[in-house]
Amino acid sequence: MQVFKFGGASVKNADAVKNVASIVKTYAKEPTIIVISAMDKTTNKLEALVNAYFYKQGSVEEIFNDLKEFHLGITKILFKDPANINNEIENVFVEMLWVLEEEPSFTYNHHYDQLVSLGEVLATKIVSAYLNENGITNKWMDARGIIQTDNSFREGKVDYALSETLVQTQLLPELKKTNIVVTQGFIGGTSENFTTTLGREGSDYTAALLAYFSNAERVIIWKDVPGVLNADPKYFKNTKKIDELTYHDAIELTYYGASVIHPKTIKPLQNKNIPLFVRSFVSPAEEGTVIKESEKRINVTSYIFKVNQILLSIQPKDFSFIAEDNLSAIFSLFSKYNVHANMIQNSAISFSVCTDYDEHKIEPLINDLQEQFKVLYNKDVQLMTIRNYDNEIISKLSENKIILIEQRSRNTHQMVMKEE
Ligand code: ASP
Ligand code: MG
Repeated sequence: MQVFKFGGASVKNADAVKNVASIVKTYAKEPTIIVISAMDKTTNKLEALVNAYFYKQGSVEEIFNDLKEFHLGITKILFKDPANINNEIENVFVEMLWVLEEEPSFTYNHHYDQLVSLGEVLATKIVSAYLNENGITNKWMDARGIIQTDNSFREGKVDYALSETLVQTQLLPELKKTNIVVTQGFIGGTSENFTTTLGREGSDYTAALLAYFSNAERVIIWKDVPGVLNADPKYFKNTKKIDELTYHDAIELTYYGASVIHPKTIKPLQNKNIPLFVRSFVSPAEEGTVIKESEKRINVTSYIFKVNQILLSIQPKDFSFIAEDNLSAIFSLFSKYNVHANMIQNSAISFSVCTDYDEHKIEPLINDLQEQFKVLYNKDVQLMTIRNYDNEIISKLSENKIILIEQRSRNTHQMVMKEE
């Protein structure tokens, strides 16, 4: 048995869903769990909806209607008679309305998860119904009843033992009957029946977890790129596909921000030695990249470029040194606001951290830090990580940029830069 994962771009419109059906028809001849993300930019729109609802930023009604029209527009093309599926879609939107009509009563993160998770619910309902209608019999399953987490909203910590039991006792028996189970990536459920999400782009992680719990033979992530590339084609020309990677290399690449696979994906697969294939849904017959245990280490130079970063420089107000007690106060605040450091550097009187800029996390973090520390910051900076670097590459990539801080180890060079 195997696990397939289709991300938002692979189900971005009706034609894309048809393409998914043709891939499933050709490549899912053995029992296959299919994990699907929200369609196209739905998750971003749902985030905007939550902000409109919770922070009164923007129009709830406009975003709501846009989301509804988008999904109904797709079913209209896909189904000869969309009455049944539209009924199911309408029900999800009715559920959403019930929430939106009341004033927020939980935390932002709690509301976020209840609403944003619905993108995956909508996508899987549509794809599952379309496959069934086209002779690919499958069972739709609700991941919230399978992947169990604690109640860390927006970053649910998975209860491995409980989720494994649910996969074995609920999911696998269904898979035996129908050969194909369609379920949601990215979302889980708590013991109190609330929905959680596993972090943005978390569907890959769901696919890895399901493979781990069911002892799958492989995971295939179907993407709009030919495989794992040595740089993001959004920022670099002449990218190269990497044919084979070890789990170790893949963990490093994703840790530094290579967005092709979610960083949490690799570890569960490595633990059970399950190979991960990254293949193109545009040219499904091509080989793509395989990530598995191997003696070979890659020495292709790879570039990982992160934009929209902020560089914080934190200094004790009393001119004391940055020492262990300060560091522990700083880190506990980072953890309180769920802010992850992408790069850190310590000097005698200042501690620098480069992190993703998420206004709703960073602004309260800065406020809190300022009670004890002086905080300086640079917004709109970029973080460049080069693996297997050489000096020529470094100077080329930092041309016309100001380097704010940099760090190098034997294999990896990192620099925080801003435009000149
Ligand atoms: N739909 C979610 C997101 O866009 C999860 C995923 O795509 O993996 O973050
Ligand atoms: Mg996505």
